[in-house]
Amino acid sequence: MKEIVIRQLAERGVELMDIAELVRELQRPYSPNLTPEVCLSMVGAVLEKREVQHSILVGIALDTMAEDGNMLEPLRSIVVEDEPLFGVDEILALGITNVYGTIGLTNFGYLDKVKPGILRVLNNHPEKVHTFLDDIVAGIAAAASARIAHNIFK
Ligand code: MG
Repeated sequence: MKEIVIRQLAERGVELMDIAELVRELQRPYSPNLTPEVCLSMVGAVLEKREVQHSILVGIALDTMAEDGNMLEPLRSIVVEDEPLFGVDEILALGITNVYGTIGLTNFGYLDKVKPGILRVLNNHPEKVHTFLDDIVAGIAAAASARIAHNIFK
């Protein structure tokens, strides 16, 4: 299952190293010497969790369905336009963010506001629908970062 999730993320333009970079950015004030390899291993650990895998699959499925026109209106237009009042994408991602407790929530809020790295790339993609994926990616990075904050280095 983990391999399928990693492949689907890659097909949507997200490499695990992109997420690891977000983790590094989140942890820079607290652990400036954190290596990309450590961040990458934290991302890998988050992706082991079954509830995380399920949220990723659901988010990518919904983005893809909206993109292909395979979704009922008015939902399709709402998802394609990423309407500001549509908050179901964030709600889905919270299931990932909170796997290591509420510390992930602050991390998620920061990423959602600043949109560094891959998040900006996803948000500025003209033809693709990334309404769910940007929050999913931010959720994974936030959870991986919470893992570091909790000193779970295994
Ligand atoms: Mg979104």
